[in-house]
Amino acid sequence: MQHNWSRYLRIIIGGLIGFTVVGLYFGEPLYGLTLGLVIYLWWTLVQARRLYKWLANPSAPDEAPQSVGLWGDIFDNLHKLHQTHLHTQDRLRAQINRVQESTNAMRDGVIMTDSKGAMEWWNGSAEHLLGFRRNTDRGQYIHNLIRTPAFKHYFDSRDYREPLELHSPAKPHLRLQIQISLFGDDDRLIVAKDVTRLYQLEQMRRDFVGNVSHEMRTPLTVISGYLETLVDNADELPAKWRRAINTMSAQSSRMEALITDLILLSRIETGEQTVHDNPTDVETLLGQICHDARALSGDQQHELSIQVNDHRLLRGDESQLRSAFSNLVFNAVKYTPARGRITVTWSTNREGAHLSVKDTGIGIDPIHIPRLTERFYRADPSRHKDTGGTGLGLAIVKHVLLNHDGTLEIRSHIGEGSEFICHFPRERLVERVPERTEAEG
Ligand code: ADP
Repeated sequence: MQHNWSRYLRIIIGGLIGFTVVGLYFGEPLYGLTLGLVIYLWWTLVQARRLYKWLANPSAPDEAPQSVGLWGDIFDNLHKLHQTHLHTQDRLRAQINRVQESTNAMRDGVIMTDSKGAMEWWNGSAEHLLGFRRNTDRGQYIHNLIRTPAFKHYFDSRDYREPLELHSPAKPHLRLQIQISLFGDDDRLIVAKDVTRLYQLEQMRRDFVGNVSHEMRTPLTVISGYLETLVDNADELPAKWRRAINTMSAQSSRMEALITDLILLSRIETGEQTVHDNPTDVETLLGQICHDARALSGDQQHELSIQVNDHRLLRGDESQLRSAFSNLVFNAVKYTPARGRITVTWSTNREGAHLSVKDTGIGIDPIHIPRLTERFYRADPSRHKDTGGTGLGLAIVKHVLLNHDGTLEIRSHIGEGSEFICHFPRERLVERVPERTEAEG
């Protein structure tokens, strides 16, 4: 190229000298030089015009204009650049098509949006699962098409560690699991998975447990009733039957407690017992629970105290909260030796509201803590066979907290005692309305 450039320069200068010499021959070297320059300028303009027309016309043929010399080289090089560009474009287009084809073949819906949720691209499954339309929905905000408030909240939260489950807006019988990932310039990649079958199975399992518990309740009530009558009249029974009747009565009470907890748990889980978001007076609630806990403690004389550091109310379902809090306080009584200390604290800070139930009881080995809220999980079955627990208490606590956007924290050391803390978000706290307080007072 460098070599050609100096050659072309030499030809141009040589040509101009030639014209000047011819001019000199006629006695007018300047005319000769001027004529040479004019001819060269004309040639340059003609070539520049051809280049301009070629570049300006987007539907120009692939072939660049043909020429010789410097302009010939310029045209050739531009043509090469153009070809390379076309090849790169073809290759990228083929790659994009492949990615789109493979994403289209996916059973999961895939949607790309910008940071505000304007939809840029989605695959065929997204159309099928969520009812998006290719022609009209491009550029629409996804919140306008998936109107569930939980989805908007999830999208805006930027915390996508856990997926979100919801019913499809277009086909309500479909249950979808939504998972969002951040990419590029704060854009979102949304994947919608059809989990209808799993959801139905899970629901069947809950319904089954709920129904079986319901069905068992009536015969068990009858058996317990008769057993109670027999226990009341134990004196009239032959001595060899008395022990058997007493054991049967104790076991049937245990089964009744189990069935009551199973029914409660299945109601809380299935949402059959809808969460009533009423302002709940936690202070009064704790007072009543601790009163019952003292009765449970009986001769064991636990030292039970309540501390309330915030008198605001908690928005939630009073009966569910009562079940959760009483399970924690009763557990503290069950798993703390006689005369142990149990402290119940209701406090708030910038993060939210917290209910702590702390005891000086037997404590729990840390290896059990992650599994304690599973149904029927017991830290050490042999240690407290006689507590009369159903093994469902902490599972109930966990589900009640889920229904109230709360979490459960467990701190414990074996032999030193345990602390169970329910954390609630700040948004659930409500001020006391003065009239209400007066009416109550
Ligand atoms: P249970 O009816 O057996 O008490 P829970 O679900 O209420 O069932 O509790 C699960 C297990 O957690 C209990 O069996 C017990 O091992 C352990 N646990 C719960 N609360 C306490 C506590 N305050 N101190 C020690 N262990 C506890």
